[in-house]
Amino acid sequence: MEALTPFYEVNEALVAMGAEKLNLCMQCGMCAGSCPWRIVDGPFNIRRLIRMAQLGVEGYESDDILYGCTTCNKCVLKCPRGVTIIDIVRAMRAMIAETGAIPGVLRTATGSVHSNGNPWSEPREKRTAWMEGLDVPTFGEGVEYFLFICCTSAYDARGQDIARAMVKLMSRAGISFGVIGEEENCCSESVRKIGDEELFMKMAEKNIGLYKEKGVKKIIATSPHCYYTLTKEYPEIGGDFEVIHYTQLLAGLLSEGRLELSSAFGEKVTYHDPCYLGRHSDIYDEPRALISAVTDGNLVEMKRSRHESLCCGAGGGRLWMETKPEWRFSDLRIHEACETGATVLATACPYCMSMLEDSRKTVNREDDIRIMDISELVLEAL
Ligand code: SF4
Ligand code: SF4
Repeated sequence: MEALTPFYEVNEALVAMGAEKLNLCMQCGMCAGSCPWRIVDGPFNIRRLIRMAQLGVEGYESDDILYGCTTCNKCVLKCPRGVTIIDIVRAMRAMIAETGAIPGVLRTATGSVHSNGNPWSEPREKRTAWMEGLDVPTFGEGVEYFLFICCTSAYDARGQDIARAMVKLMSRAGISFGVIGEEENCCSESVRKIGDEELFMKMAEKNIGLYKEKGVKKIIATSPHCYYTLTKEYPEIGGDFEVIHYTQLLAGLLSEGRLELSSAFGEKVTYHDPCYLGRHSDIYDEPRALISAVTDGNLVEMKRSRHESLCCGAGGGRLWMETKPEWRFSDLRIHEACETGATVLATACPYCMSMLEDSRKTVNREDDIRIMDISELVLEAL
């Protein structure tokens, strides 16, 4: 590593880019101790990265150092000085992004968001392919909710099952909803975490403009990442919508007696809290209420659950990066789920779904456990 710029200049630049609490850090190491990278004994160490930020050291040995953080928010909840650690990571990445030196795979994802409106290098015209054979209403005047299907559910083959389950559920529950369709874009939550602040702002403003033009007031988010950015980041730039994650909506319908389950799902289910639904958004109870109702109370917890949940490893842009098998948090999560004796691992996030489905295969537990989104579970019990 080499010091390329006087430390106070880098320090000031990071503070100006959002790392306001950088200099509150006293290097106690509580953050690194709680980080999932410690469990897999990987090369990433957040305390060390913050030290680099404080001292203005620009060099780093590999992409797994600056781009190792999955933004899972575990360390932020542990820090005794209230350091907003993810803002520091984001500011460091934004500094690199300004030089154009972000890793190639992440550049491909952000480039695709810029030109196609999605990070999957898929054409805009295919955004609605998941709707084939389904009667999906279009959002317009008099429609209550805009159902926002995240890019991963719109394009990824497994994710599309979630999008279709959502539409069937909303229709069966009698919700007034509609989609916008091909004009929809990525919410760009991951774009910001990758460090491309300029692209994030451009996409966020474009989305807010589109929603306002269509008359959107209420949004159902299918992904916790979209939910987070729509509730925490868009309001700062004029995007004031009433946003609800689908598990909140369904749990509300259930408690009001508007969602009737006709049969119990006859298997033991365990639940993986997505970081952006749990630790970032404090939504822990609604997914559990739904699973308990669907299984007649046959929900078992893993040893790491709720705010201690183990990250799947997809946040912060890591979904697009290659992670060595021995460092995959999602592999560990599959083993933890199997230890409970459950035959279904439920989650409520398309990123988690993608990571856990991959790991189920790579760790050879395909015969032991299935991964289901909560929307799929509820649909089976309707
Ligand atoms: S827990 Fe907070 S104060 Fe301690 S090293 Fe981490 S960021 Fe610094
Ligand atoms: S946000 Fe999560 S992955 Fe990132 S440093 Fe904190 S604990 Fe580690």
